[in-house]
Amino acid sequence: MRPTAITNGSGVPPDLAALTRPDFPLLQTTVDGHRIVYLDNAATSLTPRQVLDEMNRFYAAVGANVHRGKHVLSEQASDDFENVRTRVAQFTGFRGDEVVFTANTTASINAVASGMPLTSDDLVLVPFDGHHSAMLPFRRAAEVRYIPVDGSGFVDLDRYSDLLRLGPTVVVLNHCSNVTGVYAPIAQMAEMAKEAGAVTLLDAAQSAGHRRIRDDNLDFLAFSAHKMLGPTGVGILCGRRAQLARLRPPALGGGVVDWVDSQRYELRKLPHSLEAGTPNIAGVYGLGAALDYLDRIGFTDLADHDRALGDALAAEARDREDLRVLGPVGSADRGAILSFTIRRIHNLKEIAKILSDAYGVMCRSGHMCAQPFVDGFTDDEVLRVSGYLYNDREDVAALFSALDAVIDSVR
Ligand code: PMP
Repeated sequence: MRPTAITNGSGVPPDLAALTRPDFPLLQTTVDGHRIVYLDNAATSLTPRQVLDEMNRFYAAVGANVHRGKHVLSEQASDDFENVRTRVAQFTGFRGDEVVFTANTTASINAVASGMPLTSDDLVLVPFDGHHSAMLPFRRAAEVRYIPVDGSGFVDLDRYSDLLRLGPTVVVLNHCSNVTGVYAPIAQMAEMAKEAGAVTLLDAAQSAGHRRIRDDNLDFLAFSAHKMLGPTGVGILCGRRAQLARLRPPALGGGVVDWVDSQRYELRKLPHSLEAGTPNIAGVYGLGAALDYLDRIGFTDLADHDRALGDALAAEARDREDLRVLGPVGSADRGAILSFTIRRIHNLKEIAKILSDAYGVMCRSGHMCAQPFVDGFTDDEVLRVSGYLYNDREDVAALFSALDAVIDSVR
């Protein structure tokens, strides 16, 4: 059955949560008698039993390595593994041989930054509100300039346009900020970057589980299975064939070569030449099941739910004078991510711990691996809450009532 989001008075469609919660074993558990209100999805999402079952199927019924032998179990593992590659290709609009399995988004971006023939003479534009994983790999490989964003996390398109006139070799775009939840206008930005002759890379770590991404102006696309209901340890790098072919393989060894003598070797064809060693086979099975799960719900409902949840979080924050939100609290193209500080309270780690231990509310404190951006807003850390399909209006209410109580008791 395909669930349909129904919007109620609060603007939050409640039924995706009601429909999907029974599938998540972790949500059936409690912490010290409190039901778990899991609001740390921007760090990693929970795993439905369908994904767990599929990974278990690999270990229980298939078990063998991929692309290594001709016995029936190895052939089964290879077929299943390659079928997931095809699923990822359908999901992203890239071709099957343009999909590379890595360990995570960080590894995918590093494969591009260290695999392209970049030098300090090359200019790379990276988003100022980007994740460290989207900036540090290029800071090591080339000259980096930042695509400016304002205090709410909106890209300054005029200054972006000025930067493009400098002729960057690569432009890295951040689809959805893991701090503000703001979606960048990537269709326009990728088109502008292509017109300027740059290679484009989209960091879709925060968006891939919420919105379908299809854009011919993207040369590379990076995301992680673990933020979209899949397992940890599986990342995806999609790259247009000509661009992938330019990458120096990040690692050499088994799996990437067709033939080796004592002096020379011949690389396998793409994408295998970029996948050295035994991959996370069970994890790739799990990714396939996660994509099936998300597809059954449908990306229209997923995106609507994400927007409505984001608006509900922002509206509650807007009503509280004690909270200073890093990002928009009014209308914006946003997802369900909200970061804030609390006036006159500095130890946000402690607040996160009390929310967890006394109320069962899981959220994150820190710089969110986007420290240059967060440092422009506060000398402290921020507290971040982030929802997904199994969160609803009740979770938002539980969070804010717990937060009100904690702020009162700490003061
Ligand atoms: N980019 C963004 C926008 C992220 O939010 C994250 C994870 N927080 C990453 C990259 C890195 O993802 P991973 O840890 O899976 O490599």
